[in-house]
Amino acid sequence: MTNKKISFKEIVSHAKQYGFVFPSSEIYDGINAIYDYGQYGIYLKNNIKEYWWKSMIQINENIIGLDTSILMHPNIWKASGHISKFKEIFLYNEDTKYSYRLDFLIENYFKTNLNLNKEKKLKHNIIKYLDKKLKINEKDKILKLINKIKIIDPKQKKLTKWTKIYEYNLMFKIPLKEHEKKNFYLRPETAQGIFTNFLNVLNTSKMKIPFGIAQIGKVFRKEIIARQFLFRMREFEQMEMQFFIHPNQEEKWLEYWKKKRLKWHLSLGLGKKKYRFYEHEQLAHYAKKAYDIQFKFTFGFKELEGIHSRANFDLKNHEKYSKKRFRVFDKEKKNFYIPYIIETSVGLDRIFLAVFSSSLKKETIKDTKKERIILKINPALSPIKAAIFPLIRDKRLIFYAKEIYKNLKLYFILIYEEKDSIGKRYRRQDAIGTPICVTIDFKTLKDKCVTMRFRDKMLQKRVLIKDLKREIKKETSMNQLFKLL
Ligand code: ATP
Repeated sequence: MTNKKISFKEIVSHAKQYGFVFPSSEIYDGINAIYDYGQYGIYLKNNIKEYWWKSMIQINENIIGLDTSILMHPNIWKASGHISKFKEIFLYNEDTKYSYRLDFLIENYFKTNLNLNKEKKLKHNIIKYLDKKLKINEKDKILKLINKIKIIDPKQKKLTKWTKIYEYNLMFKIPLKEHEKKNFYLRPETAQGIFTNFLNVLNTSKMKIPFGIAQIGKVFRKEIIARQFLFRMREFEQMEMQFFIHPNQEEKWLEYWKKKRLKWHLSLGLGKKKYRFYEHEQLAHYAKKAYDIQFKFTFGFKELEGIHSRANFDLKNHEKYSKKRFRVFDKEKKNFYIPYIIETSVGLDRIFLAVFSSSLKKETIKDTKKERIILKINPALSPIKAAIFPLIRDKRLIFYAKEIYKNLKLYFILIYEEKDSIGKRYRRQDAIGTPICVTIDFKTLKDKCVTMRFRDKMLQKRVLIKDLKREIKKETSMNQLFKLL
């Protein structure tokens, strides 16, 4: 079998055509950067979620889970620094009428200007200059520099004048009551719900430092340059784990979680070469040290997961604003301290995109020279675990097939199909990543065996109906992933 390249456009269109991802509100022309998950997408998403959740909560005795609210007390966002610091700097181009995030413009400039990539010193100096000017809020100097080094408009690909630089808070504001100054915000990260429940968990569980609290939930950000499909959305889901430690163990646990999270990603089987670490030079307002696990998407290496040391930034500030004590006792030193936090934060939708886009293949079958589109996804993540087919529309075969479907659907997500030729049915299942097709034919009536056909190699084997449950479980169980951790 030979592989052909699949473009990003084809990936997006396959996601829609096969019921994985639809643009939200499509009948009203959609909304930029907001998507709905379709009938197969929801299973894939849930399977990724389940795998993450179990590998955090079930496998680690010292991690527990929470589900906290999206709307929280407005003071939380003051204490967390999000009201004053969760901002991005944008540049506006009068000629093209487009705005771009400063870091995107700079990154694009380094990438498209090949000579510059070699001239590391110049790159370093530009970043240092920008850092300095950002710290002292001299935005007009940044604007001057962007015009001086002749950064082009990335969309229009021509040199134009940058006319305005401005700051933009990424949180969605919801007025508490009309005409009132106080606002609610849709949470831009799930982490704050964890920090604000730290004392509740300490008081109601047996957790002792070091321990972690994990959560999966929706978050919202007013992303201005929303592009690249599920990569940058305005409403998305995060899977975060906050690990509370003694301050003198920061280095050890940061390294521990870097290794552990990379191993988790590698277990998905997308290939070692697709991942790399990136250490941040410019840190978010809460971070002391920050690493990204980057993934090689079709549009280049981009952040998939952040692994940060938040030090005691959050708990210290919640102490200040709430007047509650976020301290634990150090038995050795006989004093109280505010725990440090190592955070692992990953976008569920970005993992979905990573898995979906790198598993979608176009193959030419050697013998028949026919082409097939196949979602070569890890069977543990596949939306449908097996498809059950009668070979043809014969009453007796249909009866057997439906009986098998009825018994096995208690254990697996299955599909039953009798429409079209068997070849067409195989193609449809390949395209949604179903790892096994089970066919009931006339021989089944005599030997009580069915044919199992495997998606990737298209190999077939006969198995007894009574062994089918065990065989499907063996091929599709999530346990095979846990073993790799
Ligand atoms: P980026 O630099 O790409 O904007 P970030 O550094 O702001 O990301 P974090 O605040 O660290 O991201 O959020 C943790 C994770 O949430 C990211 O690693 C990413 O997987 C995911 N994420 C962040 N923003 C988005 C978004 N707009 N759409 C989808 N996923 C996102």
